[in-house]
Amino acid sequence: MGDDDGKKEAKLPVAGKRNILITSALPYVNNVPHLGNIIGCVLSADVFARYCRLRDYNVIYICGTDEYGTTTEIKAIEENCSPKEICDKYYAIHKQVYDWFGISFDEFGRTSTPQQTEICQDIFNKVMENNWLSENTMKQLYCTTCKRFLADRLVEGTCPTPDCANDSARGDQCDKCGKLLNPTELVDPRCKTCQTPPEIRDTNHLFLELPLLQHKLEEYVKEMSVAGSWSQNAIQITNSWLNEGLKSRCITRDLKWGVPVPHEKYRDKVFYVWFDAPIGYISITSCYTSEWEKWWKNPENVELYQFMGKDNVPFHTVMFPSTLLGTGEKWTYMKTISVTEYLNYEAGKFSKSKGIGVFGNDAQDTKIPVEVWRYYLLTNRPEVSDTLFLWSDLQAKVKGDLVNNLGNFINRVLSFIAKPTGIGYGSVVPDAPGAESDPLTKEFAETVANYVENYQEAMEKVKLKQGLKIAMSIANEGNVYLQKEKFWDLYKTDLTKCSSVMRTSAGLVYLLASLLEPFMPSFSVEVLKQLNLPPEILVQDEKGDLDRARKLWDILPKDHKIGTPEPLFRELGDEEVEEYRVKYAGSQAERKVVAETQVVAEKLKKTKISGDLECSIGESMQGMSDGKSSAPWVFGRLRLWPCGPWGGYISLVYAVRDQMQLLWSMGRSPLAAVKPKAIAKAEVSITTLDIRVGLITKVQKHPDADSLYVEEIDVGEEAPRTVVSGLVKYIPLEEMQNRKVCVLCNLKPVKMRGIQSHAMVLAASNDDHTKVELVDPPHSAPVGERVEFPGFQGEPINGYVNLKVFEKLQADLQTDAELVACYKDAPFTTSAGVCKVLSICSGAIR
Ligand SMILES: [Zn+2]
Ligand SMILES: [Zn+2]
Repeated sequence: MGDDDGKKEAKLPVAGKRNILITSALPYVNNVPHLGNIIGCVLSADVFARYCRLRDYNVIYICGTDEYGTTTEIKAIEENCSPKEICDKYYAIHKQVYDWFGISFDEFGRTSTPQQTEICQDIFNKVMENNWLSENTMKQLYCTTCKRFLADRLVEGTCPTPDCANDSARGDQCDKCGKLLNPTELVDPRCKTCQTPPEIRDTNHLFLELPLLQHKLEEYVKEMSVAGSWSQNAIQITNSWLNEGLKSRCITRDLKWGVPVPHEKYRDKVFYVWFDAPIGYISITSCYTSEWEKWWKNPENVELYQFMGKDNVPFHTVMFPSTLLGTGEKWTYMKTISVTEYLNYEAGKFSKSKGIGVFGNDAQDTKIPVEVWRYYLLTNRPEVSDTLFLWSDLQAKVKGDLVNNLGNFINRVLSFIAKPTGIGYGSVVPDAPGAESDPLTKEFAETVANYVENYQEAMEKVKLKQGLKIAMSIANEGNVYLQKEKFWDLYKTDLTKCSSVMRTSAGLVYLLASLLEPFMPSFSVEVLKQLNLPPEILVQDEKGDLDRARKLWDILPKDHKIGTPEPLFRELGDEEVEEYRVKYAGSQAERKVVAETQVVAEKLKKTKISGDLECSIGESMQGMSDGKSSAPWVFGRLRLWPCGPWGGYISLVYAVRDQMQLLWSMGRSPLAAVKPKAIAKAEVSITTLDIRVGLITKVQKHPDADSLYVEEIDVGEEAPRTVVSGLVKYIPLEEMQNRKVCVLCNLKPVKMRGIQSHAMVLAASNDDHTKVELVDPPHSAPVGERVEFPGFQGEPINGYVNLKVFEKLQADLQTDAELVACYKDAPFTTSAGVCKVLSICSGAIR
């Protein structure tokens, strides 16, 4: 299992067999993977690889760590070691975690190898020869002492914002005022490493001309998305890139830690990670076998299946195939892509820095065995929408699915057979004469056979969760069969019939061990041990193994002596579960405050305070805290969402915490601080809102909140506005960049985790909030133009719009069946046309 002591002989494609090459997205080396990462790619691909081996397909499964790039280089500077040392450390952590989870890689390699350099440079040379590259000059800061160009984050200086003047602002952002920066905007910039003032120099870079390759790429996507039955989310994301029109993309960087560019003029540069990382699949295969081209340049005989999280889709359906197309060579292009959405943790997101969630190495520290982890993650696999990891749900599934259903069936059957003769079968599988003539048994075997067909169909289409559910349904059928046949009575009244029931059931035990092997290999090994059978299972078409499900009583030979039955699963106790919940919940103080804040919010609701909560609570709290309050608006946010509902739970927790602790430490109940204030009378008209077409010019993750982006949005004013939005969970960063959006410009600014947000990006969400999409103005809508609503006239309110008013209007903002964003029946209208969302009908807009 992923252990390559005494390396086995490498597998190569075999004529006349299905040859399947499987990859899972290369995890970035700087992080310890959490459960979301594990289900997102390596575990899902593992299930499919194991299924393929079970079917005796010729399969290899390739993965490894993605090691190059700025992040590694910066981390190395911070930890005062070499990038290589950072990578060595984390590679070992990843490998150990995946080994524990039983991930059956044929090769788990890394991208910082000589093979990577060789193959990457070779691909580059061919793309260059074929004229798919262009050159462009950019201005960048250069350190004469370190003799290198500086990445944004490697420059420090004084913040250009007059009333901030923070003297240790970074080149990408000022942490004090939150402004997003270009390194050239810093006053008195200096190199982070050596403190020398850098100079501005011209630097040349190479660009892959994706627009010229778009036509070829479209042909590939059109054909393969059908042939490989790509998932809906993969098709949607890819089409949105193609419809947008591809843009040239820079493939070089002024860094040292990467694959050197083999070109006289670009000697000091390396390839940008997006260009070289997917080539890692190929180079890692070349570490597995020197005959790697038999896998990668063999489209007629090899099927490539790739597994990844949805944020990785464009790299695999657009960028990587374009690079390969650019070589003009015959590559094995991806046939099937399997994309997962996100797995969230309890109330929020996994966050290493906050200690929230279960990470790969934590799982091993619990007393929960690996097969249970795998089962829960796979049964909860986020295939079409985000899913949630909940301890209570894990506990319930262990009890309901594993203990009471699967484990119970197997244990009942094997224990009964193991009983001494006279009350059982003395551990010997009995003969089953006439099993076929028992109608109940015959019907049961037919039912199981149909399930097995469905299982196979689901697994072939990589519908893993469905495959698992079907296998579990078969176990359930088994329990029903035992109940109907009442074997314990039969033993006394009709021993012959009892024997055929037991032999049939024992056959099903073996079948379950086979069907569930891809999901829970350690479980299957244990069941086979209890059956006293060797651990290898194959389910081959040519041997009619699937048809054997129709004759369950023939699967195990009569007189076969089984091993010792033992319970396969155990329930998780309430105390144990609570212990884990507490252990992996991050800071307890914060969780407690959330619970208590909710109580306060409920009380507030019940006292029917008819006022502008944001204002009244904010003011009174501010008064009490001697003006030190950093977040006077926090109570309002509980229900009023002045900064968008997806602002996120976690960010709320932090903001609330400070206020609550302050109040409690003063010995006063937070409720006492609330003094209702009369609601301001305002005309409730949609035209009071100042909604404009904006262009996101810069976007990055919030430095202190995993769920938030910080954007700079041009809304037609002198300077762009800084806006914070909780969209990380829903929209990948690269889809935010340079995107036109609808921006609500006259809400009162609010601070979100330390960064002031000066507007709100409008987005639509589906009923259960699993999906959120931006309201897109037409491509050619002018930036800064006001969005109008036919039938409604008027100017935006002077000053900020009252939150209560906004809330009222919000109730009538939604998307219609044609995906058009509307207020009541009036579409969001610009001079270039109406504004739409990608796929959510009748969604609420916020
Ligand atoms: Zn320097
Ligand atoms: Zn600043």
